[in-house]
Amino acid sequence: MNQDTQSSQSAIVIIGSGLAGFTVIREIRKLDKAIPITLVTREPGYFYSKPMLSTAFANKKEVEQLISTPLEGMATQLDITIMAQTEVNSIDSEKQIVSTSKGDLPFAKLVMAVGADQIQLPIQGNAATEVLTVNDLEDYAKFRQAIAGKKKIVILGAGLIGCEFANDLVLGSYEVDVIDLAPQALGRLLPTEAAQALQSKLGEAGVRWHFGTTVQSIERDDDGLQVTLANGVTISTHVVLSAVGLRPRLDLAKAAGLTTNLGIAVNRQLETSAKNIYAIGDCAEVEGLILPYVMPIMQAARALAPTLLGQTTALSYPAMPVMVKTPALATVVSPPAKGAVGEWKVTSKDEGLEARFESADGKLLGFALLGSATAQRGALTKELPAILQ
Ligand SMILES: Cc1cc2nc3c(=O)[nH]c(=O)nc-3n(C[C@H](O)[C@H](O)[C@H](O)COP(=O)(O)OP(=O)(O)OC[C@H]3O[C@@H](n4cnc5c(N)ncnc54)[C@H](O)[C@@H]3O)c2cc1C
Repeated sequence: MNQDTQSSQSAIVIIGSGLAGFTVIREIRKLDKAIPITLVTREPGYFYSKPMLSTAFANKKEVEQLISTPLEGMATQLDITIMAQTEVNSIDSEKQIVSTSKGDLPFAKLVMAVGADQIQLPIQGNAATEVLTVNDLEDYAKFRQAIAGKKKIVILGAGLIGCEFANDLVLGSYEVDVIDLAPQALGRLLPTEAAQALQSKLGEAGVRWHFGTTVQSIERDDDGLQVTLANGVTISTHVVLSAVGLRPRLDLAKAAGLTTNLGIAVNRQLETSAKNIYAIGDCAEVEGLILPYVMPIMQAARALAPTLLGQTTALSYPAMPVMVKTPALATVVSPPAKGAVGEWKVTSKDEGLEARFESADGKLLGFALLGSATAQRGALTKELPAILQ
């Protein structure tokens, strides 16, 4: 066996240059400076912080300024080979080969960090295909181009991403209408009183809400886009941004015969149903949990790196509150686990609101903190049970 074949066969291959892919590599390099690593990605191979996409106006950033390190910098810093703008077409789990648009790659260990796609709502009308979504920097560049010189934007979805974009776009002097089928913003994360406080502050900042309804059709005419809602209201706008949720990318895993549920199913070692193939980040489902946030990725990468290097390590998740980046009203949430039994207890004081989700015996199972109450974040997080022990 020649040197080249030997090194490629002992190599780690990572698919995906999002936070999950790069964080795993950073963690591996803390433990092993020499093991060959190849990163394959359909993106340009730079590093950018995805959470900054929904705060670019507040931070006065243009698209290019969101790239923190270009491809060359990442390749040198991490001492890796980056195959950018390269599509992974299939994975042969038996032969341990990844087939890409630029050729085949053998692997000793493979990490799927392939992320998720934005869900598309079924919408009628001649402009239904003009609905934009943002889940990476290239999407965001297209979105910024579409809104340049325009005034009005409709956002579908009042979840975390929808609320953050709504706040950011009003800060960028856009008129924003937000539509959601739920009766309130952040329906899965906030009790009603907390949602009302957030809606009210965002409303004062200029956001117009349309709850309990959905989009039926979008037609383009001489004035722009006409968005007709199920409740009969028509909104005249220039751009429609959809932020109704994510769906893990499963195609590659399914075609390779790996077990999938809502995400690519992995065990506590982040290993899929195929030996030597692992999954992490927005695409992965760990013991039934899909947590598409930064902190779970950091935790998972710290466990996965030693496992890939031969020291099997189980993942655990502590409580990991998420900051909702709405400067109109600072918000931190740590939702109770699915199926948790208890009730919300809400207290408002000064400029803040504290919502505690407690069990019958008074144990804290989740919280939402708004405004000045966000100062309680550290203390309350210590009281919460771990998500995965
Ligand atoms: C606007 C926005 C704001 C956010 N804000 C926050 C926040 O404040 N706090 C927080 O905790 N979380 C936040 N999140 C969520 C967080 O950013 C994500 O959980 C995280 O970035 C996901 O990283 P990932 O690497 O798993 O996926 P991705 O970033 O989606 O990366 C997937 C990678 O896989 C590549 N890929 C996929 N398929 C293939 C293929 N077949 N061939 C080659 N390459 C492929 C893609 O090109 C991409 O490089 C936010 C998300 C968004 C969209």
